[in-house]
Amino acid sequence: MGKKLIVANWKMHFTVGQASLFLHRLQEHVTTHRDVETVLCPNFLALQSLSLQIDRHKFKLGAQNCYEKDEGAFTGEVSATMLHGLVNYVIVGHSERRHILAESDKLIAKKVAAVVRNNLTPILCVGESEVERKHGETRDVLHDQVTTGIAHLTASEIKQLVIAYEPVWAIGSGDFAKPGDVAEAVALIRQQIKALYGTPASLMVRVLYGGSVDAENASTYLATESVDGLLIGGASLNYDVFGRIVASAHQIAEQEK
Ligand code: PEP
Repeated sequence: MGKKLIVANWKMHFTVGQASLFLHRLQEHVTTHRDVETVLCPNFLALQSLSLQIDRHKFKLGAQNCYEKDEGAFTGEVSATMLHGLVNYVIVGHSERRHILAESDKLIAKKVAAVVRNNLTPILCVGESEVERKHGETRDVLHDQVTTGIAHLTASEIKQLVIAYEPVWAIGSGDFAKPGDVAEAVALIRQQIKALYGTPASLMVRVLYGGSVDAENASTYLATESVDGLLIGGASLNYDVFGRIVASAHQIAEQEK
């Protein structure tokens, strides 16, 4: 069993000053564990100052998005080239970007490729909407989002990839997915990778669950078969709750040894 991966998505919360203050508190509440990798994804503006403040034994940094090209006349965009040296991870295809900002699977695939090209690790988010779930389309949605999202990666590049299964209806709603359904979705994702890139790649890709995770339900998902960690939105904005989630990840990792 590898390390548990816990990713905090702070979304569009915290000014630079607030982010710094929050990190200060978080560093007091989160303990370092060799078996847990904890990644903080603040807004772009806060990345630079947090990178100077962060305790690198405790945390890594991630970005919430990037542009598909490395450089050029793309007003307002931030490239993976610019993020290189500041972050280790980049979230790509979060459901809020897919649904509010109309990002397509094809654009997301180009962003995933840009992240890999710049030697960073993409966290590709996939998951069905409420309507798709009601129509029994979860399997097809995951198939399409995974297949298209990783289309530009080679078999060796795929091994570094992180995929977050985040059912859209579970994000920020308090309506978290049943662990059995998560296990099924994660198995589907791994089968898809296996069909495209073979068994070793399917076992090496790390798959996370995200959607209304809190300190109470985190350990259930962390103990769910084939789930390597969590992507956390709301609960990552509370240092006490987030510290408890990281502690649960350590406990589960210990039990699995
Ligand atoms: C997310 O933003 O990826 C997420 C899972 O949010 P929440 O934990 O608030 O549901």
